[in-house]
Amino acid sequence: MMQAVLFDLDGTLHDRQRTLRHFLQWQYEKHASSWGTFSKETFMQQFEAYDQGGMVWKDQVYRQLKEELHVSEHPDELLEEYVEHVADHAVWMEGAQEALAACRHKGLKTGLITNGRSTLQRHVIGALQLEQKMDVILISEEEDIRKPEADIFLRAADQLQLEPEACLFVGDSLETDAKGAASAGMRSLWLHGEMNCGARVLPAYEQLISYLEEEM
Ligand SMILES: [Mg+2]
Repeated sequence: MMQAVLFDLDGTLHDRQRTLRHFLQWQYEKHASSWGTFSKETFMQQFEAYDQGGMVWKDQVYRQLKEELHVSEHPDELLEEYVEHVADHAVWMEGAQEALAACRHKGLKTGLITNGRSTLQRHVIGALQLEQKMDVILISEEEDIRKPEADIFLRAADQLQLEPEACLFVGDSLETDAKGAASAGMRSLWLHGEMNCGARVLPAYEQLISYLEEEM
């Protein structure tokens, strides 16, 4: 019987892409008077290209931007702005807030497991007020272990005092989330995933509740 639903953060509960775009617009406008030699679109496109969907840490992204666009600010200053302010622009993935509320309304425990830097992830967690909505929160940097390693999923189940079989994990990465959780004995759903890739797919959050009702 299902007793808990755990989620990934970026691309699952948190619309990182949209948040990033809002932040980059804000950052460009803040520096617009000295960045007039290139457009906002150029800045955003270059940033997103170097960022590789969040795979590259931002110190490197800003260093590359400095070389490419010849911005006068020191990369560290821009990085500090990023760390400090990106979460001010944090937005939910479509349907995620409602799905999370529905899980809690059903009496299910909820949890979060995210790979990432503690400071940054904590800012996003705070901005979306996730502390109040989660029974367990694990961040890879704090745990010194990352998804898809089974141990991080097992640690979350342990903290919830549940068997992994009683937990469902929802995430937007096939390898990191869906397969990682499955390797720990959890059930898993690949959010927005492709059919026939060896994982059960959750096409949209609206279907999460019917899935839970089938399984509960
Ligand atoms: Mg993700």
